[in-house]
Amino acid sequence: MKIMRIAVYRVDLPLREGTYSWSSGKSITTYDSTIVRMETDAGLIGYGEVCPLGPAYLPAYAAGVRSGLGELAPHLLGQDPRQIGVIHRVMDERLKGHAYVKSALDMACWDLLGQAAGVPVSTLLGGCQGAAVKVYRAISQDTPERMVERVALYRAEGFRHFQIKVGGDPDLDIARIRAVAARLEPGEVLVADANTSWLSHQAARVVHAIDDIDLYLEQPCQDYGACLDIRRRTRRPFILDESIDGITALLRAHRDQAMDVVNIKLSKVGGLHVARQMRDLCVAMGIAMTIEDSGGGDIATAAIAHLAHSTPEALRFSASDVNGYITVRLADDGPYHDRGWMKAPAAPGLGVTVRPDALGKPVFVVR
Ligand code: MG
Repeated sequence: MKIMRIAVYRVDLPLREGTYSWSSGKSITTYDSTIVRMETDAGLIGYGEVCPLGPAYLPAYAAGVRSGLGELAPHLLGQDPRQIGVIHRVMDERLKGHAYVKSALDMACWDLLGQAAGVPVSTLLGGCQGAAVKVYRAISQDTPERMVERVALYRAEGFRHFQIKVGGDPDLDIARIRAVAARLEPGEVLVADANTSWLSHQAARVVHAIDDIDLYLEQPCQDYGACLDIRRRTRRPFILDESIDGITALLRAHRDQAMDVVNIKLSKVGGLHVARQMRDLCVAMGIAMTIEDSGGGDIATAAIAHLAHSTPEALRFSASDVNGYITVRLADDGPYHDRGWMKAPAAPGLGVTVRPDALGKPVFVVR
């Protein structure tokens, strides 16, 4: 099987809440998502999707995805999309770094491999474990009162796992955490995610002030060493996200005992190929995981669902239904959360049928 044509689309996906805010005043109103449609000489079509959370969250941006795809896509023409190791070697030879760009192409190749094999991607990744995957709901940064209201709203929709966005003024963040924690119900999970934005002294104040609360702390500081220092100053379980951008960082953090949970975002590490390697290492090392991505619609959510659902339940801290934050559907059969849970699609490949009218005209095509 050979790749004959790659079309790249831009799709704007407006956010359900109108805006989404996180650390240091960053916010977006729309996911600027990039979709790859990969056609083969066998008549099979694969889809991939990458959507950075604006240009200031990770070292990735939407126009960069499309620019990088312009660089890489021509080199994949004529390649067999089922040979995913070869695909990654070719991509790494042709473009250094830019894992997020490669993630879109990787995802389309997994879609094609699954279709060619007649099995869902979850089967290729080890097979579904358990009936469904618990998904968390991120609570956009706001006043403590409004964040409490948002938690109540999503609790009513079935969510039991909340990740509140802090990483602002430390005193206000302490108030946010205390307000939400005070109204939690038995069995609910609370994560306070600073998204790299506290300085060390600020993080030290916050972790001391909330030391009596049963919660998880996520990525307090930008610098890995600063996170490690805060990790050693707190009794609370600790999550790393932005600092863990690949296998080397994961192994270093494991050696340092720097985290209890790691967040694996597909586009942060280069797609399912590398995310799966990291997932398997985490299983071997006993590190719990959140399987997610920085944004996107039904295609990205399907890829997340396949990796998450094929991860052993005991190691599966949570997952993200990124399409639960938007108002637009790209595929009617994409996985969608049901009372805070989602399932990997059962059809071959990613198992999503992209709506013919969802993508519009391509930004560019290589053939
Ligand atoms: Mg995070």
